[in-house]
Amino acid sequence: MQKKELLYEGKAKKVYRTTDPQVYIVSYKDDVTARNGLQRGIVVGKGTLSNRLSNRLFQLLEAQGIPTHFVQEWSDRETVVKKVEMIPLEVIVRNVAAGSLSKRLGFPEGTVLEQPVLEFRYKNDQLGDPMVNASHISALHVAAQEELEHMARLSLQANQILREFFASVQVDLIDFKLEFGRTPEGSLLVADEISLDTCRLWDSETHEKLDKDRLVQDLGGAQEAYGNMRRRLGFPQ
Ligand code: ADP
Ligand code: UDP
Repeated sequence: MQKKELLYEGKAKKVYRTTDPQVYIVSYKDDVTARNGLQRGIVVGKGTLSNRLSNRLFQLLEAQGIPTHFVQEWSDRETVVKKVEMIPLEVIVRNVAAGSLSKRLGFPEGTVLEQPVLEFRYKNDQLGDPMVNASHISALHVAAQEELEHMARLSLQANQILREFFASVQVDLIDFKLEFGRTPEGSLLVADEISLDTCRLWDSETHEKLDKDRLVQDLGGAQEAYGNMRRRLGFPQ
């Protein structure tokens, strides 16, 4: 198989066609963006970390019966993935209050939620990715009711698996975002990425932030935080 032309360049990744019509190659960039691209920065080595971490997590989910788009790591920042029809929804799972949940509902940051909280957002940059409920999703025709239920179930299962994984490197999984795609046969799989850009991760003891919030909240030390996670995960520096 060979990599062919660039099909799409997004905020965090480039997507390439290949000689195999069933797969794409995604290439992770070093750019970090937040607030729908209004805030930007570069973290050297972020692309390779996102690639390795996403692939490790996709393989972990697969091993526990959650289908993903992962096929094969292609290079330090590129991966072969199953080509799917993306569902324009973000599924967010939260274990601890932070970010927009704290802002909207008034939970102080760091409040442990009794049960995971699940949210759907409609992926639309112009609208600012608004939160939507099952009724909105049905009106928008972006996913069927059964698909919605399936995505919710898979996301909550993924939460358990990912929480355990991060706990093994003394990190709390505060919240994260998943995106799903439809295969040509109509089944759902987890696509896009699972990385420090899409998960909130805090040190279990000190609660130090080890993710993209270091950049988003101008806390400084984004480069160091990413290096810290790389060390914990045993990835090359
Ligand atoms: P954005 O488009 O939000 O800026 P990215 O920079 O991450 O995001 O771009 C990657 C693009 O590739 C996204 O539009 C995402 O929906 C899409 N994508 C991710 N995985 C797959 C896949 N397996 N098949 C098809 N498209 C995918
Ligand atoms: N998230 C994401 N992409 C988005 C929006 C959110 O990956 O476009 C992730 C974010 O990193 C966090 C979780 O979803 O882990 C919840 O984000 P929140 O609603 O608190 O919004 P934020 O404060 O990140 O804007």
